[in-house]
Amino acid sequence: MSDTLAGRSLRAVWHPCTQMKHHEAQHPIAITRAQGPWLEAEDGQRYLDGISSWWVNLFGHGHRRLKEALIEQMEQLDHVMLAGFTHAPVVQLSERLAALTGLGHAFYGSDGASATEIALKMSAHFWRNAGRPQKCRFIGLAGGYHGETVGALAVTDIPLFREAYAPLVRLGSVVPSPDARAAQPGEDAISVARRAAAALAAWLAEHHASTAAFILEPVVQCAAGMAMHDPEYLRLARALCDRYEVHMVADEIAVGFGRTGTMFAHQQAGIRPDFLCLSKGITGGTLPLSAVLTTDAVYAAFYDDAVTRGFLHSHSYTGNPLGCRAALATLDLFDELDALAANVALARALDEAFLPLKQHPSVRHARRTGMIWAWDLADAPSDFAQRYQREALARGLLLRPIGSTLYAMPPYVLQPDEVRHLGEAAFGALCASLDGAAA
Ligand SMILES: *Cc1c(COP(=O)(O)O)cnc(C)c1O
Repeated sequence: MSDTLAGRSLRAVWHPCTQMKHHEAQHPIAITRAQGPWLEAEDGQRYLDGISSWWVNLFGHGHRRLKEALIEQMEQLDHVMLAGFTHAPVVQLSERLAALTGLGHAFYGSDGASATEIALKMSAHFWRNAGRPQKCRFIGLAGGYHGETVGALAVTDIPLFREAYAPLVRLGSVVPSPDARAAQPGEDAISVARRAAAALAAWLAEHHASTAAFILEPVVQCAAGMAMHDPEYLRLARALCDRYEVHMVADEIAVGFGRTGTMFAHQQAGIRPDFLCLSKGITGGTLPLSAVLTTDAVYAAFYDDAVTRGFLHSHSYTGNPLGCRAALATLDLFDELDALAANVALARALDEAFLPLKQHPSVRHARRTGMIWAWDLADAPSDFAQRYQREALARGLLLRPIGSTLYAMPPYVLQPDEVRHLGEAAFGALCASLDGAAA
């Protein structure tokens, strides 16, 4: 075992979000190839990528169009610093993202967490430039996830990720989530949204003078366990942010690029945020890239003769041409495949394939938004997530529950037999992982 890729990995690679000692019992799986929705392992096993490789892949692995675009870009220009220089992919991508969102100024980072950092810094700096430096605090939703760098942890309400670093973090405030599962008898998702918005209103009434921005994941709070809410919350929150002069930061790092059915999730509410954070699917799952889009008003507050009123933030790979080119090719695929419309039909087929799962007696709150499915497990064993993942892998499927919430977020390119495989393996793994536990 020690000469395999997995064995060498355990000696040399520190894996993310992992207690490395747990790998004594189960080694990481060495993937040697990926094509379409399939991951292929060193030992020849194939796994259907039911979570899009941590929510980044959109049109399958190794897509010919993305490959061609990247090879062409590589022959032209691999990288150049974006301070003092510019290039076609970053210009074109910024123009296209502006046309899609109405947010005309794009600032680039490399990962999702760096986009969060950029949005928070820009917001606070905006208020400082506006002569209101006391507006420098942030609020987020209960269960919100915005990345794990020290700044992003300030608004990430997931104790498991934050606790060890509490002394380093300048904690933001948390308001109730509009999670539709919180509905009381007689309430629907809209009532929950209104109740949560009332709590936000009360909080802002008291603290707006010291608050720079409200950050949230529109429509689906993914890391919280696919908590879904009615877009009504976004309309109410937008009105409150306007009334109290607080920026709205839409973190669409996970839910952007069609995951919720619309190109961007906030568009379901007919609102526009002040900042929009994008990453993950932006390159179709090929390269790390993130972007923060913002308004003319924010941009204008930094536009000045004084250097210190500018946004003096940078990453070495800001606006990397290869990443931008992959993003452009990804946007082309949305048009060419009419992907949002195609996903409506694909989601219907998947709904049917997931029917046995939905009807399993232990499943609560079966739910779907766009191309995201989730099911909560009642009385799940404490090791349900690991147990389930193991059973799914044994059936040629990658699904990785969050606590006792099972979810699927597959790529947009499943063939009918792959839809069937996903439904059957997901159900089989559920029965097996609960069976073993009951005894
Ligand atoms: C994944 C994620 C992030 C962090 O992105 P990284 O690239 O992992 O740093 C931030 N916000 C949301 C909503 C995410 O899902």
